Amino acid sequence: MTYPIYVCGSPVLKKEGEPVSKDYPELGKLIEDMFETMYASDGVGLAAPQIGKPLKLFVIDATVYKENEPELADFKKAFINAEIYAYSDDSVPYNEGCLSFPGIHEDVNRPSRIKIRYLDENLVERDEEYGGTAARVIQHEYDHTLGKTFIDRLSPLRRTLLKSKLGAMSKGKYKADYKTRIVK
Ligand code: ZN
Repeated sequence: MTYPIYVCGSPVLKKEGEPVSKDYPELGKLIEDMFETMYASDGVGLAAPQIGKPLKLFVIDATVYKENEPELADFKKAFINAEIYAYSDDSVPYNEGCLSFPGIHEDVNRPSRIKIRYLDENLVERDEEYGGTAARVIQHEYDHTLGKTFIDRLSPLRRTLLKSKLGAMSKGKYKADYKTRIVK
C-alpha cells in the first residue's frame, strides 16, 4: 500500500525520530510500503517522518543514477537507526528537492563523503563509507530522521526568500502529482 506524503507545515517533519525496536510490528511490511510510496511519487529516497511516522528509518533507491555512477546499479536499501559518524571536510553544492516540499529545488552544500552505521532491512549491522550521489541522498534522508529538512541547510538569506512560499505551502497552496497531506 502507499501512504500520503506529509508536506511542509506538518509538525512530524520537525520531530526527531525514535529508534526502531528490533521487534517493531511488521517492519518488513512498513519498509515495503515505504518503497512503494516512494516509487509512486517518483522519489529516490523517503524517510518515515514523511509518512507521519517519527522513526529512525529511511529507504533509498538510487539505481536511476547507474548510468553515471555504475556502483549504484544495485543501490536499493533500507537504513534503520542510522548514525552518520564521520564527514569529509569539504562542502559541495547539489540541487536538491524533497517530496515534502513539492516544487522547491535549492542548491544545498554538504560534505561529499560520509561514514555511516545502521541496520539493514534484515537487521544486520552495517558500517559503510559513501561518496557521490549516494552520500548526498543518504544525508538528505538522514536529516529527516533528526527532524531536519534541506530547508534547514540553506543560508538565512535563501530561507528568508522562501518564507512566503513555504507559508503558503503549509496552508495547502501547492501542487503535487502524488498523494499528500498536511497534519497539524
Ligand atoms: Zn526530503
